[in-house]
Amino acid sequence: MSVPPVENVVIVGSGCAGLTAAIYTGRANLTPLLLEGSLPGGQLTTTSEVENFPGFPEGVDGFQLMDNLRKQATKFGTRFEQTQVTSVDFTSFPRKLVTADRVILAKAVIIATGASPRMTGVPGEKELYGGKGVTTCATCDGAFYRKMDVAVIGGGDSAAEEALFLTRFASKVYLVHRRDSLRASKIMADRATSHPKIQCVWDSVPVAIEGVAEGAVSGLRIKNLKTNAESVLPLKGVFVAIGHVPNTGPFAAALDVDEGGYFKPASGSQIQTNVPGVYVAGDCADHVYRQAITAAGMGCAAAIEAERWLAEHGG
Ligand code: NAP
Repeated sequence: MSVPPVENVVIVGSGCAGLTAAIYTGRANLTPLLLEGSLPGGQLTTTSEVENFPGFPEGVDGFQLMDNLRKQATKFGTRFEQTQVTSVDFTSFPRKLVTADRVILAKAVIIATGASPRMTGVPGEKELYGGKGVTTCATCDGAFYRKMDVAVIGGGDSAAEEALFLTRFASKVYLVHRRDSLRASKIMADRATSHPKIQCVWDSVPVAIEGVAEGAVSGLRIKNLKTNAESVLPLKGVFVAIGHVPNTGPFAAALDVDEGGYFKPASGSQIQTNVPGVYVAGDCADHVYRQAITAAGMGCAAAIEAERWLAEHGG
């Protein structure tokens, strides 16, 4: 059996973090190999317009932005392969990444696999996701709901934060939570529950998102868990904020992760893992900011660290 070539740097993930890491390592002449997963371009490709990425005063289509980053990475010599990493072995050097059909060897590895928003799974959610009224990011999409009624589903810090952010635009924000108090930190919970534009809807879960036939959200059907009564909140936007699931599964046995499954970088670093030459970047290692620009920044930092590490270890 032939031994595969040893790559300088393999980047796993093709969102903002991965593609930025590819631009930097490519420009450093490291000819990176980037493994794109099942959603090339990552979460931003599912957002219609991005208004807060610096440098685009008129906003930029999420798909277009990712396509631009991909072209820039290609220009500097990045090679792309559409495949999923199923497991890794970081106990030996070079590092081993296993995909469905081959083993890839690498001196340095940058993992930028992102996180997937946890969804409710109720009817209408999938059909109306992305530009039709169901979204998971108030920072990205809140401004599209000026003077409209919207709902946020969830009771954690994210839900409270999303609801508060949405009060800048929406006429009214329903905060729909399955319990009778928020899980969010006290300061966030107090802010949300006392805000005049936020109406908390306690003990309630979504049953369906209405508007599929019209192609746009028209209401949120909810059920009160104490009375079993169903009702419909008429509104135009549903923001799902029930947590995220980091895409760290295939690496979790090899790298330190926290209780939520997010990569836990070595102390004092955002990107360095417990394995030398292996870096993490973007939403798989960041549950706090989760922005395209912060993911890109982490991708850049990981690339620079990988480049330095390779210079010392024969890149
Ligand atoms: P989270 O703390 O896990 O909260 C998720 C919320 O969604 C919980 O209230 C949970 O209900 C609810 N939920 C989960 N599954 C559900 C389902 N299937 N249907 C309905 N509701 C469901 O997640 P998060 O708010 O994204 O926060 C994640 C971490 O980031 C936390 O550590 C948080 O403190 C941190 N964070 C901090 C800030 C900040 O400090 N500004 C901002 C955002 C996030 P239960 O309460 O019943 O479990």
